[in-house]
Amino acid sequence: MAKRDYYEILGVEKNASQDEIKRAYRKLAMKYHPDKNPGNKEAEDKFKEASEAYEVLHDSDKRSRYDRFGHEGLGGQSQGFSNFEDIFSHFSDIFGGGGGGGGGSIFDGIFGGMGGGGGRSGGSRVRAGASLKCRVNITFEEAAFGCTKTIELRRAELCDSCHGTGAAAGSKPKTCPTCQGRGQVYQNQGFFSVATTCPTCHGTGTVIDNPCKTCKGTGHETKPVRIRVNIPAGVEDGTRLRVPDEGEPSSSGGPRGDLFCYIFVAEHDFFQRHENDVLCDVPITFSQAALGAELEVPTLRGKARVKIPAGTQSGQVFRLRGQGFPNLRGYAEGDQIVRVLVETPKKLTTRQRELFEELASIDDKNVSPKRKGFMDYIKQYFTEE
Ligand SMILES: [Zn+2]
Ligand SMILES: [Zn+2]
Repeated sequence: MAKRDYYEILGVEKNASQDEIKRAYRKLAMKYHPDKNPGNKEAEDKFKEASEAYEVLHDSDKRSRYDRFGHEGLGGQSQGFSNFEDIFSHFSDIFGGGGGGGGGSIFDGIFGGMGGGGGRSGGSRVRAGASLKCRVNITFEEAAFGCTKTIELRRAELCDSCHGTGAAAGSKPKTCPTCQGRGQVYQNQGFFSVATTCPTCHGTGTVIDNPCKTCKGTGHETKPVRIRVNIPAGVEDGTRLRVPDEGEPSSSGGPRGDLFCYIFVAEHDFFQRHENDVLCDVPITFSQAALGAELEVPTLRGKARVKIPAGTQSGQVFRLRGQGFPNLRGYAEGDQIVRVLVETPKKLTTRQRELFEELASIDDKNVSPKRKGFMDYIKQYFTEE
């Protein structure tokens, strides 16, 4: 089989600059990267083919020999690459340092490089997949301490029947005849050659004659998946949490979209939240308020003791430092604010009634300062009438 033209493989013009060649290769390398096309022989071949073309064209000496004499001009110098590691280490400037390191770092290198390229049409073919949304219900305590939730949703996954190629069993996607696999077509407008996404293959560079019946040639099937999501401590009701790369897959060889989790925090029977403070009401008896007491109050973390002094008024608040929600940004955590409410007994035993009556007779002679002021005000109000 005749070797394809290197310029054609990279989809650049004969007079392309070093920058354009590098950018074109970077694009193809991202599209056909083995990390993104596991087990896809076609992508593997494309990746190797593009790497070979780049190896020649980015070297000015080899390029000029190739320009004059074609493939023969290179003698035995360009046999291509036998494996991926070879490619990664050879073009470590493109694949982000390390060369031959873990798949993740290699990928970051390519994506990192994309932004810096600043090309006219750079990156237009590769778009991330659509984002997905989901609702996550958590308890008040889970919001306080953080939790891990397993989310079940349906999204597009690689088709089992065709392993993502989109071609029916026994067939393969073939190179797009319109763009010869470049994914782009060139139109001359005056002095400029303008690249647009190929209308036949929509930028993928391949077409499928005999599409897979399961996925109708898309290579994807909607399937239920389970995703584990870490919910940070201190999260608030209504928070939108971004889980990167767990959305729908890209149709143009880009990364998956993001998954956005909307957090719903259940109300608590006893606690309420205000910013990072936890509020609660604690009922106390009339005698506890008058004489003072030590109360046992539930907290997010268990229990705490609160001392209320003699003469505590209904509605008075007591603060338990550091017993509230942790701060999402790592600042000081909130407090628990305990409001005591004096409960007036609704039913009295005979003995209680006796005691209250006795108390009332003493109260008449022994008026408290606040009540004294109030009584004076009432007297004055009536005499003025
Ligand atoms: Zn399929
Ligand atoms: Zn095409």
